[in-house]
Amino acid sequence: MLTGNTAIVTGGSRGIGRAIALEFARAGADVALLYASSEAAAQAVVEECLAIGVRAAAYRCDVADFSACKEAVAAVKADFGKVDILVNNAGITRDGLIATMKEADFADVLDTNLRGAFHMIRHCTPLFIRARRGKIINISSVSGLLGNAGQANYSASKAGLIGLTKATARELAARNVTCNAVAPGFIQTDMTQDLDTGANPLATNIPLGRLGTAEDVAKTVLFLASSHADYITGEVIRVDGGMAM
Ligand code: NDP
Repeated sequence: MLTGNTAIVTGGSRGIGRAIALEFARAGADVALLYASSEAAAQAVVEECLAIGVRAAAYRCDVADFSACKEAVAAVKADFGKVDILVNNAGITRDGLIATMKEADFADVLDTNLRGAFHMIRHCTPLFIRARRGKIINISSVSGLLGNAGQANYSASKAGLIGLTKATARELAARNVTCNAVAPGFIQTDMTQDLDTGANPLATNIPLGRLGTAEDVAKTVLFLASSHADYITGEVIRVDGGMAM
């Protein structure tokens, strides 16, 4: 399905990003993972991809750092020869109520979740334009669609990603580059393990009756990265068990 493609997955060391990397590898793509600090976890994902039979490598890169993203994209291009797919998955939370939220907690979440995606799109776009092809998938959230109390920073960053997705889709469509977003609901990962989902009004009403898995999200990302989605751009696909419909 993706044989011959090289994919960059940010935040590929854990959770949803790890599942996307493995799903891509099983579909035949070579995979470049970016991670912030979990070197051992990132290397373990690389080993799993290599065992599947594709090329894989991990790069330490804080996506909030414009220059670091430029260097990482250049390193992937040097190592793999090209980039065909970019998945902006790296994300953080710094939850708190607006009345007491620290300035840094708002800024850090926007810097990683929204500016980080811009940085990666900015540095991959020249490669996509030259190749006259490319697929960008941004991992947003139902928090960006609905807003979530206690997550003003996170919800703003994820709503911002949807605007970034649509503007990018319009701007790059003529170059045969698509840009779509996936909006997961509550997915079982490190990010949500401390959340009391039973007490969260968003999580208590999931029509499909369960939290999502990282693989649920990864399969949708694989679809958007594949030729099955060649005529889809600027779209936001919820993977939330029906929670936000
Ligand atoms: P995890 O906390 O499990 O993993 C986060 C990943 O992002 C890690 O690989 C981490 O790297 C990486 N990362 C964090 N900050 C940076 C940074 N500054 N630069 C580079 N990499 C970074 O998160 P999930 O897998 O749960 O979430 C993945 C994405 O999905 C996020 O964007 C999240 O907002 C979104 N999402 C998650 C939902 C959920 O319910 N889990 C719901 C909706 C959206 P390292 O391991 O090195 O720290």
